[in-house]
Amino acid sequence: MCAQPPRLKKSPGLARPRPKSDSRWITAGQSAIHGRGVYARELIPDGTRVIEYTGERITKAEAARRETQRLARQRNDGDDSVYIFNLTRRHDLDGRTRRNVARLINHSCAPNCRIEVIRGRVWITARRDIPAGAELTFDYGFAFAEWPLHPCRCGAPRCPGFIVNSAQRWRLRQIPKAARIQRAAAISVGRHPRGALG
Ligand SMILES: [Zn+2]
Repeated sequence: MCAQPPRLKKSPGLARPRPKSDSRWITAGQSAIHGRGVYARELIPDGTRVIEYTGERITKAEAARRETQRLARQRNDGDDSVYIFNLTRRHDLDGRTRRNVARLINHSCAPNCRIEVIRGRVWITARRDIPAGAELTFDYGFAFAEWPLHPCRCGAPRCPGFIVNSAQRWRLRQIPKAARIQRAAAISVGRHPRGALG
């Protein structure tokens, strides 16, 4: 079940929706970071609302149940993608639906997009001018406590090798690099063709 916009917005970014992505700005393709990613079709000006992150609105309890299932899949067949979005104190948004092209946007520790929650809807917004052909990224903002679960291959110069929200990333850097590399190698076995930590 997708939360579709009730009507076209005034934003020029959504004036000419395309059935596959609901945004004229982007196209999906093979990512240099992880799996498939999302790329700029043309220069996206700073501040543009690029695409809405749509999905199923679920309770925190349901989100926890689905996360447990996801972790089991991660152990079994390597499906490690996270699509559940922290929406409010009571609800999350599960973006695991093919229609939600925004689910393909990868995390980066030096992202070119940010999240905007406007009246209960989640938007991916450019935080600087994004040149045509560049991969779109935002900060997934994962909690520090979960760092061992989410290796990062974003390639940013200051990337600590795992996905943690920017405010707590300094804590990750205090963990010895050797320990981080070891952890990344352990979690990557059999799952990712590229080595962790680039
Ligand atoms: Zn990174």
